[in-house]
Amino acid sequence: MRIAIVGGGIAGLAAAYELETARLAGAAVTWTLFEERARLGGSLASQTVGGAVLERGPDSFLTEKPAAAELCRALGLGDALIPSNDAARKTYIVTRNRLVPLPDGLMFLVPTRLVPTALTPLFSLRTKLRMAMELLHPPRPAGGDESVAALVERHFGREAVDRLADPLLSGIYGGDATELSAQTVLTRMVEMEAQYGSLTRGMLAAHRKMRAMAKNAPQGAGGRAIFTALRGGMQQLVDALVARLDPASRRTSAPIAALARTPQGWRVEITGDGGAGAAEEFDALILATPAWAAAQLLTRVDAALADELAGIPYSSSITVNLVYDEARIGSLPEGFGFLVPAVEGRSMLACTFAHRKFLGRTPPGKAVFRAFLGGMKRDDLLATSDETILATVRREMREILGERAIPAEAEPEFAQVTRWPRAMAQYAVGHKQRMERVHARLAALAGLRLVGNAYDGIGVPDCIRLGRRAARELAGLPEPATSQRCPGSAGN
Ligand SMILES: Cc1cc2nc3c(=O)[nH]c(=O)nc-3n(C[C@H](O)[C@H](O)[C@H](O)COP(=O)(O)OP(=O)(O)OC[C@H]3O[C@@H](n4cnc5c(N)ncnc54)[C@H](O)[C@@H]3O)c2cc1C
Repeated sequence: MRIAIVGGGIAGLAAAYELETARLAGAAVTWTLFEERARLGGSLASQTVGGAVLERGPDSFLTEKPAAAELCRALGLGDALIPSNDAARKTYIVTRNRLVPLPDGLMFLVPTRLVPTALTPLFSLRTKLRMAMELLHPPRPAGGDESVAALVERHFGREAVDRLADPLLSGIYGGDATELSAQTVLTRMVEMEAQYGSLTRGMLAAHRKMRAMAKNAPQGAGGRAIFTALRGGMQQLVDALVARLDPASRRTSAPIAALARTPQGWRVEITGDGGAGAAEEFDALILATPAWAAAQLLTRVDAALADELAGIPYSSSITVNLVYDEARIGSLPEGFGFLVPAVEGRSMLACTFAHRKFLGRTPPGKAVFRAFLGGMKRDDLLATSDETILATVRREMREILGERAIPAEAEPEFAQVTRWPRAMAQYAVGHKQRMERVHARLAALAGLRLVGNAYDGIGVPDCIRLGRRAARELAGLPEPATSQRCPGSAGN
């Protein structure tokens, strides 16, 4: 069985790893991976500058989704896995130019504790009363999908959308709460609403269940950190994967220009240095490109499938890393960083104090800030120069954190801007139904699998899970003993 993998981001690399492991174990399978860029890893990219690990793309993965940590352990990186510094976890929402901590007891978007919710300056009195009344919300009769904003507004009012849902989701998804699908992004909340009516009551019941489970769990099983990272950065995972892959089978600078079906399987046409004008035939094909790129490649194979894929929206983002000498800046508020709601009218979406979120990745005496810009509403920023972006981030950080914390004259020791055009899929209203149509079309295209962040979870663990599963299915390999799927909805 010869399998082509198109796209060398984490999803494609995970598929290649699975096939290579099977090949070395004696399975009758070979594979070739085609990546259009000169480097593998896609959105995963980090580097170490002056001893500080700087992440240009993802910085970590959700611990509750095991696929990424499992793969790291299989690659011998178990000792490099580090937990987020949750003891210092505190996140602020910029509210009328002030930093307001997320109130205690907030379970994702749902306030579950009366006193912190009543006291927070995040919401007006009217919203607080509405939040208290939410306990009486009736169950929603089964209906179709709706946006995250619509769901949150029905329960907690508009201010909860602007001050909570929007910044949290643009921080995670680079997305827009008015467009994201409640059914896909807030699956558990939609289920809770159907069962309890009130999301607060649903969350409290879930919390009680979790506490009971933790009490009955064996000693030492609880207290997992929310995020897991690699000591040397996400590039460590890419490097370890690439080192395991037969160099003759991974081709970089090899953009695939077209695909066609053959009586036996699939033909891929390669352009660029990696095989200009050549075509190769395979029994099966894993498309691990973004959905918009898969759509272009599949137009001549199945126009209806291509249309569905082209309809999956993507957002772009910009990350900015700034390294400061702590002696040149003032003291920062405690915690991991802050989120900026769109209603604040700023360019920044969020800023992480990276030296606090993961310990041991920044030399003593240095501070690393990781700012995010862009998202669905600000594609225009991609065309802005590095100088303007850096000046904007430094000015907004000064305005938000205060002149004493970030003095105008304090120059960063290192600054880096990275653009990620159309990198993050958006699960828009109707995504679940779109995926049902996609799967129906795929059923008629033997030997084709689509993997990546556009389909069943946008996080690194989701992409790994899909990539490995597609490889196993096509090569007829058995399911591993441990489950790679964790309960819960999509997310990173
Ligand atoms: C800034 C940023 C921060 C993030 N933070 C987190 C985080 O903290 N935690 C987390 O879990 N997730 C995070 N994510 C999401 C996660 O990183 C991505 O969803 C995931 O890495 C996507 O992997 P992928 O393999 O699906 O796609 P990609 O990484 O986009 O890879 C697709 C590859 O396909 C190649 N390609 C495209 N067309 C062709 C063609 N015609 N021929 C050959 N090759 C082609 C591309 O060059 C690319 O290398 C973040 C994403 C971004 C952008």
